[in-house]
Amino acid sequence: MKHSPNFQNNKNETAFNYQSLFDLNTDAILIINCLGEIQHGNPACEKIIGYPVIELKNKSFFHFIEENEQAKACFEDIIKGIKKKTKIQLLHRSGSRINCLVRTIPLDESDIKKGLFLGLKDMTFYDSLISKYRQSELDFQIIAENVQDVIILMNEHRQYLYVSPSVKEMFGFDKHIVEGKLQKDPFFYNHPEYAELLGKIYIDSRQTGKPFQIVIKVLHKEKGWVWSEVKGTPVYDDENNFRQMVLVVRDISLQKENQEMLEYYAYHDPLTGLANRRCFEKGLAESIEKLNLKGESFSLILFDIDDFKTINDTWGHEAGDQVIQEVANRTQHVIGELGIASRLGGDEFIVLLYDCSTEEELKEVIHKIQDALLEEIVTEKQTISITNSIGATICRKKYMSDTYYFKNADVALYEVKQHGKNQFHINCS
Ligand code: GH3
Ligand code: MG
Repeated sequence: MKHSPNFQNNKNETAFNYQSLFDLNTDAILIINCLGEIQHGNPACEKIIGYPVIELKNKSFFHFIEENEQAKACFEDIIKGIKKKTKIQLLHRSGSRINCLVRTIPLDESDIKKGLFLGLKDMTFYDSLISKYRQSELDFQIIAENVQDVIILMNEHRQYLYVSPSVKEMFGFDKHIVEGKLQKDPFFYNHPEYAELLGKIYIDSRQTGKPFQIVIKVLHKEKGWVWSEVKGTPVYDDENNFRQMVLVVRDISLQKENQEMLEYYAYHDPLTGLANRRCFEKGLAESIEKLNLKGESFSLILFDIDDFKTINDTWGHEAGDQVIQEVANRTQHVIGELGIASRLGGDEFIVLLYDCSTEEELKEVIHKIQDALLEEIVTEKQTISITNSIGATICRKKYMSDTYYFKNADVALYEVKQHGKNQFHINCS
C-alpha cells in the first residue's frame, strides 16, 4: 500500500488513523476475498446488515444480496474489478431490504485476487429525498401542464426557463419555441408600449419581493395583440438570493370586451346606439358648467314622433323599432359633432347643441332635422311616413338646474302637441 510522505515518518500514527477511519466510518466497510466471502467488517456493518461482524465472517456476501440475477452479475463484475460501484439491495437480518451504494477498492491494486474493500452506503435517506424531489417535480408538472393559464419561470436575465404547454392554446406558440428565449425576442412578445413599465415593475418586484399584477397586450401567433393579465411572484433561495420570477399569464380579451360592452351600454341606447339619458345628462351638466363659468350658451331640442302608437298598432312593434332606429340615424347624421343626439326612451329624442346661442342658428338645425325626418322610412315590409313635434329652448340663463332647462324644452314640446303636432316651438324664457 502506498503512503503519502507525511505519513511515512510516523507509522504508528498512520495505522491509528486508518483504524479510526475504518472503525468510526458511518458507512459499512467489508473486506472480502475474491470469492466474495466476508473476511472482516467495521462496526457500521451491523447497522446496515443486522449481524455482528463476527457472525458475518466467512459468509458469502451474495448471501446478503436480494435474489436478483442482474444484481449478482453486477456484483460479480465488481469483484472482478470491472465495475467500481453499483447499487444493490441488501437483505437486512430483519428481512427488510436496504438500498445501498457499493464502492470497491482492491486491497492490492496489482492483484485483485487478494480481495477488496467494499464500502456500503445506506441510500435510504437519499433515495427518499430523491423520490420526494421527483414527486414534487411531478406535482408541479401536473399542475403546470393542466392549468389553462400560462405558467412561466423566468431568470434574472428575463429568459424563459419554463413555459407551460398551455401557451399553445392561449397564444398559439409551441412551448419549445418560447422556452430559452429572452423576453425581448419576438416569440412571446409583450407590446412595446408596455416594455418600459414592465421592466420597471419586474425590477421593483425583484428588489422588494412584492408580487405584481399588470394588464398588457401579449402577442398571439394568429390573432395579434390580445389583452392579457400578468401576475408575477419573485422567488428567492434560503440565502435570499433572487432565483426566479414565477409568471402566470391569462388571456383576458373576452373579459375586456365584456367590460367595454358594459361601459358602452352604460352610456348608449341599445336599440339605436345613440347616447342614452345618462350620457345626455352628463353632457348637459358639462354645458351648464361652461355657461356658468364662461357664459357659453347652448340649446336643447326635444322631439317626439307624432302618433307613434298608431305605427306600432298598424305595422307591428318590429316596424316601430325600425322607425325609431331610422329617426336616430338621421338625427345623428344632422347633428354630427355639433352636440349630443340622444334617445330618452320610447319615441322621444333630445339634442344638446353646444354652441347654439341664437334663434337663427337653432331654427337652422331644427329645419335640418325636420327635413331629414320628412323623407319616407322604408322598413323591411312597408314604407312609413312620420311627422314630429319639436320643442326647443336656448339656455342662456346662468345658475339654473338641469331640470329648469329641460322643462323649458318640454313646455315648448307640450305646446306643439296641444296645437296640432308636426311643428316646432321655441321657448325663449
Ligand atoms: P303622441 O303623438 O302624443 O306623441 O302620441 P304617440 O302615439 O306617439 O304616443 P307616445 O309618444 O305618448 O308614446 C310612445 C309609444 O311608443 C308608447 C309605446 O307603446 C311605444 N314605445 C316605447 N318604446 C318603444 C320601443 O322601444 N319600440 C317600439 N316599437 N315602441 C315603443
Ligand atoms: Mg309620440
